[in-house]
Amino acid sequence: MMGTHALLSPSAAHRWLNCTAAPRLEANVEDAGSSFAEEGTLAHAYCAKKLKEFLGLPVEGEDKEIAEYFDKYHTGEMDEYTDTYATIVLEKYNAARAKTADAQLLVETRLDFGQYVPEAFGTADAIIIADGTMEVIDFKYGKGVKVSAVENPQMMIYGLGAYKKFAFDYNIGRVRMTIVQPRIDNLSEYEVSTEDLITWATDVLTPKAKEAHEGNGPQKPGAWCQFCKVKSSCRALAKLCTTAVQDPKLLSPEELAADVLPILPVVKTWLSGVEEYALQQALSGVQLPGWKIVEGRSVRKITDQDAAAVALNKAGYLTAQIYKPQELRTITDLEKLIGKKQFAALVGDYIEKPQGKPTLAPESDKRKAIDPVADDFKDVQL
Ligand code: SF4
Repeated sequence: MMGTHALLSPSAAHRWLNCTAAPRLEANVEDAGSSFAEEGTLAHAYCAKKLKEFLGLPVEGEDKEIAEYFDKYHTGEMDEYTDTYATIVLEKYNAARAKTADAQLLVETRLDFGQYVPEAFGTADAIIIADGTMEVIDFKYGKGVKVSAVENPQMMIYGLGAYKKFAFDYNIGRVRMTIVQPRIDNLSEYEVSTEDLITWATDVLTPKAKEAHEGNGPQKPGAWCQFCKVKSSCRALAKLCTTAVQDPKLLSPEELAADVLPILPVVKTWLSGVEEYALQQALSGVQLPGWKIVEGRSVRKITDQDAAAVALNKAGYLTAQIYKPQELRTITDLEKLIGKKQFAALVGDYIEKPQGKPTLAPESDKRKAIDPVADDFKDVQL
């Protein structure tokens, strides 16, 4: 689902539903365009093109985007992942058509959410309408965070927008929201009745959106701060991170589990954000009492590798002594170049995955718990 520039972006809904102060505080912070966003635009263009070609629709817009970003971001891996997305959507569409001959597949549909979220709008990647159910499908090219569709407010806003657009022409009783995130094998689905969706919109979404739009709500820190543009200077978050553990004595395992571990990801994000922000401020001339800017550690570089090699050879050093041995690129790099499936087909026999290091995860994590006293983990280095 691509780009909205309204104050209340659906992609940030999880944040502004929790902290209604955030959008107004973030409004004056410039949004630096990222290479991830451009890579996502290219991948989305391929997704839309593949579906539109199946439907016999024109693809000039997609071809233009592909031409713009191809050289910079195209990889074999991108072809495979966008194929996966198109296959999933078309399988769903074919299943819908098997039930209802007049099932509809809509690609890149512009939606207006203004009735619930002031000035907000967006584009749904794919919508399938059939048999009283409307499915809104979102392609995510990111692989940093696994995104669940379950009670996902961004998806629910898109579901509402799509329902509003098509409720007049179709009898829609249920809305299914699906996230396809092929780079990490994530296919997440969530279904609600239109009645429940509208109740959520009326009771939760609209009042919170109004409060966030007016900017008079409180700052409320939590896990949603991770991508907030003001996290490095937010007083409420700083307070949470610095006062989470009030008692100076030793922590009990219960306190560690209940008070410290849950906010660890937020604290880590805050720490790195604050360091970066403080340096930026200092570099732009802001005085930070007691601090100064110094030159960091730098690494020496050979400016002309060929000339250096000739000089060393002449001095009697062998080529094998002065050059590093040739080595393959990392598995991630090779998969990106070749595509995951093709890479597995070619060299899968030569890959092994050693046991991972023990790591703490909340009970809700899907991975199987490890018995800490099991022999297998006795010798693992932490
Ligand atoms: S950092 Fe967190 S608490 Fe502060 S404004 Fe952003 S979302 Fe709200």
